[in-house]
Amino acid sequence: MSTMTHPYPHLLAPLDLGFTTLKNRVLMGSMHTGLEDHEHLDRMAVYFAERARGQVGLIVTGGFAPNDAAAPMAGAGTLTTAHDAERHRVVTRAVHEEGGKIALQILHTGRYAMHRHGVAPSAIRAPISPHPPLALDEAGIEQQIADFVRCACIARDAGYDGVEIMGSEGYFINQFLVAATNQRTDDWGGSYANRMRLPVEIVRRTRAAVGRDFIIVYRLSMIDLVPGGSTWEEVVLLAKAIEAAGASIINTGIGWHEARIPTIATSVPRGAFAWVTKKMKGEVTIPLVTSNRINTPEVAEALLAEGAADMVSLARPMLADADFVRKAAEGRAEQINVCIGCNQACLDHIFVGKVASCLVNPRACHETELNYLPTANKRRFAVVGAGPAGLSAATVLAERGHEVHLFDAADEIGGQLNMAKVVPGKEEFHGMVGYFESRVAQSGVTLHLGQRVDAATLIAGGYDEVIVATGVTPRTPDIPGLDHAKVLSYIDVLRHRKPVGPRVAVIGAGGIGFDVAEFLVHEGHSTTLDAPAWRAEWGVGDPSVSRGGVEGVVPKISPPARQVYLVQRSASKVGARLGKTTGWIHRAALKMKQVTAIEGANYERIGDEGLLLSHGESREAAEWLDVDNIIVCTGQESLRDLLEPLKAAGVVTHLIGGADVAAELDAKRAIDQACRLAAVL
Ligand code: FAD
Ligand code: NAP
Ligand code: SF4
Repeated sequence: MSTMTHPYPHLLAPLDLGFTTLKNRVLMGSMHTGLEDHEHLDRMAVYFAERARGQVGLIVTGGFAPNDAAAPMAGAGTLTTAHDAERHRVVTRAVHEEGGKIALQILHTGRYAMHRHGVAPSAIRAPISPHPPLALDEAGIEQQIADFVRCACIARDAGYDGVEIMGSEGYFINQFLVAATNQRTDDWGGSYANRMRLPVEIVRRTRAAVGRDFIIVYRLSMIDLVPGGSTWEEVVLLAKAIEAAGASIINTGIGWHEARIPTIATSVPRGAFAWVTKKMKGEVTIPLVTSNRINTPEVAEALLAEGAADMVSLARPMLADADFVRKAAEGRAEQINVCIGCNQACLDHIFVGKVASCLVNPRACHETELNYLPTANKRRFAVVGAGPAGLSAATVLAERGHEVHLFDAADEIGGQLNMAKVVPGKEEFHGMVGYFESRVAQSGVTLHLGQRVDAATLIAGGYDEVIVATGVTPRTPDIPGLDHAKVLSYIDVLRHRKPVGPRVAVIGAGGIGFDVAEFLVHEGHSTTLDAPAWRAEWGVGDPSVSRGGVEGVVPKISPPARQVYLVQRSASKVGARLGKTTGWIHRAALKMKQVTAIEGANYERIGDEGLLLSHGESREAAEWLDVDNIIVCTGQESLRDLLEPLKAAGVVTHLIGGADVAAELDAKRAIDQACRLAAVL
């Protein structure tokens, strides 16, 4: 790899740590995947081995707790006994066999624990936790430090190349650092020198116990994004002390979990927080890792080239594509499956207790059960519809050795993704379509665009099997006046770009209603593509001036392009069903743009006056909403008229994606279903 010329000289340069060398500048950032739970270590081994084979420089595992109180919830992974060292050898061996290096993250959640036994410097409940923590006494603090050290020693015995001490994101260590969560009056509280004693002691005693030739990464919260957070002076002081205490690498943490500023969602600009790490450059001599929304080799290379950091942390992009580094090194960057920052299959799964996966790569964390093996029975397939379902099925089938013809009525592949990508904040969907373009070409699928196929053509085509992936059609609600000229569908707006007036009612407040509202309140560029404007909009300041990077910062929000009303029939809060980790961001973004939410509405009529709305079961007090346009976003229905005629003609036919089930359809389900079917045909 090193002898090749490639476009990413900084990214692919080895990093010498003195006692060991990392093969490049990519650290796989820690992610809780659910595999940390005890029974899944075999799966974890295969998952990490694939990433090691993909040439990532250093893997960091999901968090393991140093004792039960530190664990996020009962049953979560801990590393506390010699037996644990035995059990983890399957993981370290698998990674080492692939030539990789792996560090175990030690995570103490403190007051973020979801159980009743959480411990913290002071008994102050976190806004995102159900229970107040127990305040530790001094002996208790000594015990926590000893447990960190024990955990690191067990990790070393298990064959790990190092540990990452999780000191950011508002967890236990952060809770000691900040006065708002540390109100102690002993030697562990009060002055900043006292508050920072805990992390320094943890690193110092860990280094003393593990010896010199073991990697200690310290993840340092460089900008807390909460009121009362650290000042920049404090952050620098801590970094220097952590270096002196024996850390090998400092990784960047951005924002506490309770912060009300998005830090990793798709609408966060790429590399939006690298400037914070860059600010630290020169303050310490050990390597610095920068993090958050770095999802392509171009972005990573540019950050390293401009001197923002010595390494980049890629977490979710390693779920999306295990071969990220290998593809970059081999000049195949366009073949990288790009993480779109959606959180739909990774973080959102964790919040409901499911093993993580990835929207664009359903194999992630499921490597032992979902595999695309060469077929012994080559057949000829027609796949109808080049949305995410059809694209996934066609490419997996072709990669397995089948002959595949993929049809779409449109002149471009992508289906509804082409509407998603024009929504401000969803620009990452361009990358998803681009990836599929390259994969279609690479896999040898024969693509037939601009062809709306009917059953007769398919039957005449003599295919062995047909996959119907024709997607959905918008639902037509039963509202008097729906044929009025003011009425448009979301397709008219997003695809056909029909003109829209200054006052608009969007009816239906599902995912598409929210996206259409977002599209309509913006004019000109998207702040997702303009990091300084994005920071100004969300009120992110310079931590040298504003404590935590937020105190005293007044958000600068540009006025909405038009007045938008977002209307729904149900009485629940608008947006209540959006994604667990991203719904609040969509709601906050529309609030910034003064979108008016109307819940519990009845659509009485549409006319020249606008939209006549009444409320409640009694349908009283109907009033006209004076709007120029009404945009219909009231859900979708399956489009599958090919199915019956094909079946009647005896053609083996499969239904996937929206064509199969329209309710609660998303790209995650479409891709997952398609890949799982194509893996076994
Ligand atoms: P589609 O994407 O609908 O594709 C079907 C394809 O079949 C179309 O290209 C169509 O032209 C073609 N076709 C139909 N009939 C024929 C025929 N007879 N012959 C040839 N071709 C035919 N999902 C998410 O997971 N996350 C999001 O953030 C997200 N945002 C969205 C934002 C918007 C604005 C929209 C509109 C959708 C969004 N979705 C999102 C939903 C997601 O795009 C869909 O769930 C997904 O595209 C469904 O995939 P599919 O392949 O089943 O169907
Ligand atoms: P949806 O989420 O099902 O929302 C449709 C909305 O229309 C509902 O909120 C419903 O609310 C209303 N509605 C349903 N039937 C109606 C009727 N007969 N008359 C009037 N109103 C009616 O569907 P969608 O917004 O079209 O989105 C389609 C899929 O794309 C979704 O399942 C979603 O997962 C996916 N998507 C996801 C994202 C994302 O960010 N993850 C973004 C966009 C789309 P009321 O009944 O309360 O009015
Ligand atoms: Fe990235 Fe979405 Fe996959 Fe998570 S589910 S890794 S955010 S593409």
